[in-house]
Amino acid sequence: MLTSTPPEVHRSPLTQLSEEENLFQSTVRRFAREQIGPHVREMDEAGVFRKDIIKQFFELGLMGIEIPEEFGGQGGSFFQCVMAVEELSAVDPSAGVIVDVQNTIVNNAIMRWANASQKQKYLPRMAADTVGSYALSEAGSGSDAFAMATQAKDNGDHFLLNGRKLWITNAAESGLFLLFANANPGVGHRGITAFLIERDFPGFQVGKKEDKLGIRASSTCELLLDNCRVPKENVMGEVGKGYKIAIETLNEGRIAIGAQMIGLARGALDHAVAYAGQRKQFGKTIGEFQGVQFQLAKMATELEAARLLVYNAARMRDAGIPFVTEAAMAKYYSSEIAETIASTAIEIFGGVGITKDYPVEKLYRDAKIGRIYEGTSNIQLMTIAKKLLGR
Ligand SMILES: Cc1cc2nc3c(=O)[nH]c(=O)nc-3n(C[C@H](O)[C@H](O)[C@H](O)COP(=O)(O)OP(=O)(O)OC[C@H]3O[C@@H](n4cnc5c(N)ncnc54)[C@H](O)[C@@H]3O)c2cc1C
Repeated sequence: MLTSTPPEVHRSPLTQLSEEENLFQSTVRRFAREQIGPHVREMDEAGVFRKDIIKQFFELGLMGIEIPEEFGGQGGSFFQCVMAVEELSAVDPSAGVIVDVQNTIVNNAIMRWANASQKQKYLPRMAADTVGSYALSEAGSGSDAFAMATQAKDNGDHFLLNGRKLWITNAAESGLFLLFANANPGVGHRGITAFLIERDFPGFQVGKKEDKLGIRASSTCELLLDNCRVPKENVMGEVGKGYKIAIETLNEGRIAIGAQMIGLARGALDHAVAYAGQRKQFGKTIGEFQGVQFQLAKMATELEAARLLVYNAARMRDAGIPFVTEAAMAKYYSSEIAETIASTAIEIFGGVGITKDYPVEKLYRDAKIGRIYEGTSNIQLMTIAKKLLGR
């Protein structure tokens, strides 16, 4: 017997946008080009993201896309978060990841797991002026994230947290940290607990900022917890259930990393197409040579395939359909093609492509992180294989 599928799921082609989505996309696209574009090189060289642009993210509603209107957010969809990350990343992948972590990880987790008073307290801030970070990784626990050493000791009406987190995106700018620590190491990952930590909590400090190959303007810092006092009302979800929050949040975040990578790839392809149309060799523009046309056509095809994976995973998430495997595929494939598309774009530019006077070398550097954070490519492949093999 045929089962009926909810009509909204298969109603239209994946890339066909509703009127609202179209308007949203063109607004973010214009903002990225006009307001971020002129500052990309300077921010990359300084390794600092401009505060005035982050302020504009808040003013445009880009830091609280899915937050319900009653809390000051836009009441939008996950798909809109993905579109925002894609559009920003086409101009600057550092801008994309700031908005990605805020929306698809931190806000998302608060909306799903925080209690009513935590939502009341933090969601309006996240929509208005507070940047958020997600702090899971440590020096000794990356792919094996649940092997974390940071501990939380029950101390009456509060927990005392001790340890160090590493690689924390947005940390230089953040006011709120969704941080994971083990409250009962004796039971392994079943002791992991999620805490909402405000930047000025006693014993909490943002440490060294990394000097990176790519996404240089996006801050990545160490966090130090030295008897950090966290009131019990700042435990998010149940004590010992933080591992579930960590995994499920990353499953969603991965789709947006896919969006960051397709945005980046589109940026590189657009630059390559424009250059191929103007650079002359042998008395013709290089775009007239079939060899170059084929390179561009291959890039466009790979990009379209990756976009379909990302959009499908995002629309599945909005439709409430299980999406974990599709999210892993989207992130895995998008990060692979982003690197090859940015690399081919440099080749199409020839010698100038490798200089800082043209934008493609930066996109190539920025692409590398896609295969690493929010689960390396190997970790995505493990997730996909697990499903294939029924494990
Ligand atoms: C710029 C940047 C920003 C980041 N932002 C954040 C953030 O905001 N919050 C946060 O919590 N973390 C963040 N991270 C951490 C990131 O998620 C980890 O770096 C990533 O999960 C990989 O962990 P690792 O670096 O310890 O590498 P490792 O886990 O040591 O992996 C090293 C290599 O071994 C491979 N490997 C490991 N285990 C297996 C296995 N079982 N099978 C096959 N291969 C395996 C990996 O694929 C990789 O190639 C960030 C990292 C960077 C670089």
